[in-house]
Amino acid sequence: MALLSTHDLTAHYGDFQALFGVDIDLNDGETIAIIGANGAGKTTLMRSIAGVLINGRDTVSFNGDAIGNATADAIMAMGVAMVPEGRRLFPSLSVEENLLIGTYGRKNGGHWNLDTVYDLFPILKERRNNPGTALSGGQQQMVAIGRALMSNPRVLLCDEISLGLAPVVIRDIYKAVPKIKEAGASLIVVEQDIGQAMQVADRVYCMMEGRVTLSGTPATLSRDAIHDAYFGAA
Ligand code: ATP
Repeated sequence: MALLSTHDLTAHYGDFQALFGVDIDLNDGETIAIIGANGAGKTTLMRSIAGVLINGRDTVSFNGDAIGNATADAIMAMGVAMVPEGRRLFPSLSVEENLLIGTYGRKNGGHWNLDTVYDLFPILKERRNNPGTALSGGQQQMVAIGRALMSNPRVLLCDEISLGLAPVVIRDIYKAVPKIKEAGASLIVVEQDIGQAMQVADRVYCMMEGRVTLSGTPATLSRDAIHDAYFGAA
């Protein structure tokens, strides 16, 4: 059984339907990537899993429990944490205070605490008393990831963590992924950068206009198939 699944997941913003029957599975220990163009529904999928958007139907399961109607706080306490698009740090708080916010709702006994997050991203230890605003974009993204890890999640949802960052910085951030997996988390990574998604993911789902249009392991997906699934067949 998958660790986390969506079955026939739908989502609406008012009258606008953003997701149409999305089925995805995340197995324990796996990293899956969700790729797709702007507006494909990737962020909506993450928000639906995290309980930020609730559709009133039991269409998400985690660890054998139906969580589709649970609140975002409850889902986080169960072990699903999100690194939101745009990082959303508290600008007036220091790096360390931003990280400590992640301990809200945490489970005891996990791998992650301030020391292990600082081991993962040593630059954050140097900057620990700086306000969030004094950091580079890459450092802010590290804080956002560290903050989510502080809750000791079993599933980490990462929404476009490479957006707007230089390639060398993206590489540094993605270097953390194997260590996060070793510590026991499974990951869902939303990426617009297809090459990056193919490198990091065990399996990839491609979305277009609120639907999954293609899925498979990176080795089995051809460039042409991805192109069609991403932009629509000519
Ligand atoms: P991006 O890469 O731009 O973040 P995405 O694949 O994450 O794109 P979503 O942000 O999930 O896509 O958006 C899916 C659709 O829902 C888009 O058509 C978008 O315009 C619409 N949408 C997203 N958020 C809202 C909102 N708060 N109110 C109304 N429509 C929304």
